[in-house]
This record gives sequence, structure tokens and C-alpha cells, in this order.
Amino acid sequence: MKQEIALKNAIAASDLHDSSSPASSSSVSDSCSSASSPTDLTSPEPELAGATPYDLIVVGFGPASLSIAIAILDTLAPEFRRSQRILFLEKKSEFSWHGGMLLPHARMQISFIKDFATMRDPTSKFTFMNYLHTKGRLLDFVNLGTFYPLREEYEDYMRWCAEMVQQDAECVAYGETVVGLSVLEQEYFTTEKIPHLAVTSVRTHDPARRTIRLARNVVLCPGARPQFPSCFPPELTSRISHSAEFMHKSSELIALASQSSGAGFAVAVIGAGQSAAEIVHYLHANLPLASHIDMIFQAGALRPSDDSPFVNEIFNPEAVDGIYSLSDDRRRAMFDEYKSTNYSVVRSDLLETLYATVYEQKLPGRTARLGMKNLQILEEVNVIDKQGSEKVILKLRDRYNSGQIETAEYDFVIAATGYDKSAIFTELLSGLNRYVPASEVTVDRGYRVKLEENVEARLWVQGCNEATHGLSDTLLSIMAVRGKEIVDQIFDK
Ligand SMILES: Cc1cc2nc3c(=O)[nH]c(=O)nc-3n(C[C@H](O)[C@H](O)[C@H](O)COP(=O)(O)OP(=O)(O)OC[C@H]3O[C@@H](n4cnc5c(N)ncnc54)[C@H](O)[C@@H]3O)c2cc1C
Repeated sequence: MKQEIALKNAIAASDLHDSSSPASSSSVSDSCSSASSPTDLTSPEPELAGATPYDLIVVGFGPASLSIAIAILDTLAPEFRRSQRILFLEKKSEFSWHGGMLLPHARMQISFIKDFATMRDPTSKFTFMNYLHTKGRLLDFVNLGTFYPLREEYEDYMRWCAEMVQQDAECVAYGETVVGLSVLEQEYFTTEKIPHLAVTSVRTHDPARRTIRLARNVVLCPGARPQFPSCFPPELTSRISHSAEFMHKSSELIALASQSSGAGFAVAVIGAGQSAAEIVHYLHANLPLASHIDMIFQAGALRPSDDSPFVNEIFNPEAVDGIYSLSDDRRRAMFDEYKSTNYSVVRSDLLETLYATVYEQKLPGRTARLGMKNLQILEEVNVIDKQGSEKVILKLRDRYNSGQIETAEYDFVIAATGYDKSAIFTELLSGLNRYVPASEVTVDRGYRVKLEENVEARLWVQGCNEATHGLSDTLLSIMAVRGKEIVDQIFDK
């Protein structure tokens, strides 16, 4: 009886009853194994008996998950791998990597040698070198003499890897958004320990269609969510955008500005990091000459990112051990010392280009199209209708002279204000509150989440561990090695 109540609660929590139609994933052969029965639990009164659980479900199919998939293909024996039911759930309809920031000239901020395989196994077929060789560009790339490919090219490399994974293993379900993890407690399970986590997903384009899958091992790799400062209105208009969406909006923005040949058209870019600088540079080159761009930020000046060799050692895979073993205070101090590798900084070549742009507009006959509004605290964002067209009004307070307030009007505002790295995880894990012992989720050195003793199922998280595992956690730096660390644990190697 007690178990029945628990089951009902779990079902209510995970909306299992909400399923409206069968959801046998159309784009998926549902595991890396060859012949297994489907485990989608989609009927209004789900039949759990006979459902075959997954050995591994990975949430999200961005770089962190891709490196796990590649480590599986590179390191597990094919016959063993084929005996395992493995599934990656990705909310987008195909693989893409920061599609809204694929600006034409943007370069990678990491050496191509830190691809998904080389640091773990340079002989893997998933290396960037093999990608270049396969595409017939290896020699031409060598002639370029760079370690930093275009972002666009690197995204194509990632897509190529994602396609090879799907061809080899058919284990990615695109178009499925995971909405939560939970535990189904019921008499179906005969053991004392809870053997599976329940992963609930909806079809991204048909949220009424829910699917629940059971898995012995789950890895969460959902990345981060674009973040606006709290002074932005909760309901955004078409005149406000996040940098994450920039290239998807840029044609609309340029068309808007072109209507008046740019005359009086003003754009504000909020932020002082690499994304803000890239967007400002792009707008300056692509908006009509009569338009104006302001870069608005709190810092005193744009600063260069530090990718010098001694500093770069913080991104070595073995650095994670040392960082993880430190006290919270020491880790925070270390973060402060090294944050100029990644936060609110701009690559020095772009920084110099922007400085030259600002300088050159001071020459006789030039117009000041680019404004650098430093030391500005954004206090309010309001959208008004002005003669039938929307304007965004920004209230700015001087950082060192709090009485000095400026109100500025823009036709378009782009917030290059970073990403929230914890909200997605908090939401996805909320259904497991009863099984996470401390009030806070504790993650061990191997990225595994500590669950209650009575849970046998295992859970790992990637990308939300910067505070404990260091700055490489949200980056590409150690993914080849980290992917294998996770795979070794999951398959008890
Ligand atoms: C513009 C830009 C440039 C960058 N350049 C570099 C660089 O040069 N070098 C570097 O080291 N780092 C760079 N980064 C950092 C970047 O975070 C990492 O490169 C990388 O994207 C992290 O991979 P991830 O898989 O953890 O997250 P993501 O890339 O965000 O991937 C997460 C995936 O999970 C999916 N997902 C999310 N929620 C769900 C859900 N509920 N259900 C199903 N799927 C879901 C998403 O659609 C996405 O495909 C850059 C970041 C940005 C924004």
C-alpha cells in the first residue's frame, strides 16, 4: 500500500499520466544495441512490466555529450558496446554548436589539438586532423599556420563527429527535450535499492507527447542558458535579443536599419566579453554607415584574455585533481586569479581592431559610429512605442559617480551578458530532491552526484562544476579526457 502511494506521487511528479500518444522516437533506433525492446512508457496508465531499461541515458548532445559518445566508440569493445542500451537525448532537431554565434570571422579560443580525441588518443578517427584529411583541406590548413580554426569550421568538425557517431551507433534521439529526472518507486522493483532513474522527455515540437525511459546510469550535459540581467523586462520584445541568438537575428536587424539607410538607427550591445566585442565588430562592418553602435559595460576598459602558456596550464586535465582537492576559499581565490582567461575579456587581436576602429573615426571627415560607454551600470530597460515603432530605453548610472544618470534610446539592444550555468540542472534535478542527501547537490571528483544510499542508479553532471572542478569545466579544454573518465566509471573499467 505504501509503495502504491509512492508510485502515484512519483507518477504525478513526472507527469507520466500526461502522455497523449505513442512516442516511439521517430528519428531514433533506440539504443546502441542491435535488438532490444523499446522502453518508452507512454500510455496513460503505463505498463512498466517488460520495459527494458537503458544502461545509459545522456541528456543533451552538445560537445560534452559528444565527447562521451566518442569515448564510448573509441574505447569500448564493439561487441560489448552493442550489448549496451545507450541513448543521447537532444532537444534540437539536429546537431549544432552555438549557431547564433557563428560569426563569419570568429575564431576558436582553444587549440584544435584539444579536439574530442587527440589528447586521449591521437590515433582516433575523431581527431580534427582526420576531419581535415577527410575533407581534403589538411595541407591548406597547415599552410594557414594557425592553431585556432574559424568557429564555423570547428562547428562543422563537431557536426562531422556527431554524424559519424549516429552512423556508427544510431544512439541519438534529436527533437526530445528532457524535462526532469525522477524515481519510480513501485512493486515492479523487487530489490531494496532503487535501480533506475526515470528520464522524462517531451517532443520539442509537440510538448504534449511525453516519454519516460528508465536508466541505470544518467549523465546530464544540458549546457547553460542565456542570461539577461534582472533589469530586463520578463517578456522580451523583438527589439531585444541575447548574443546567443545574434546570427539568427542579424538579417532582421540589418534590414530594420536599412529601411532608413541607417539614419538615426542606434544599437546597444551590453557586455565587455568576447561575444560583445565580436558582435560590435560585426555590426560596425555590416550596418548602414549612418547607423550608430554603443558598447555598454561596467568595467573601466576592455581587457585582453590571457592565453599565455604558463597560465594555460590551468586547463590541463590533471589540474582538475589539484583544484578539486582545495578548500572552497582557495578555489574561489584561484578562480579570481585565473578568470581573465575566460570571463569579461576579449582576444587581444580583436581588442586592437576595435581600438583602431574607435581611433580612426576621430580622423577628419569621419563620423563617430562606435561609442564605448564604459563604467556604466545598466539600471532599467523599458520598451516604448514611439510613433508606431518600438524603442528600447536604457537607464545607465555612472559606476563612480552614482548621481550621474543617463537615459539613452535605442532601436535594438543585444545583451551579451553571459549564461546561467546552474538553472537547467536545478530544474532537471528537482524531481530527485528526496534522493539528494544534502540541501546542496554534492559532486565527486569523477563528476558523480551523491545520491541517497538506497539509490543504486548512478548520476553524473557535466558543465555545472566550475566551482569545484575549475574553469575548464564549462569549456572544451579537457573534454577528450573527461569523456573517457566518465565512460570508464559507467562501464566499470
Ligand atoms: C559563442 C561561444 C563560443 C565558445 N567558444 C569556445 C571555445 O572556443 N573554446 C572553449 O573551450 N569553449 C568555448 N565556449 C564554451 C562552451 O560552453 C563550450 O564550448 C561547450 O559548448 C560546452 O559544451 P556542453 O555540451 O557542456 O554545452 P552545450 O554546448 O550548451 O550543449 C548542451 C546541449 O544540450 C542540449 N540540451 C539542453 N537542455 C536540454 C534538455 N532539457 N533536453 C535535451 N537536450 C538539452 C542543448 O540543445 C545543447 O545541444 C564557447 C561558448 C560560446 C557561447
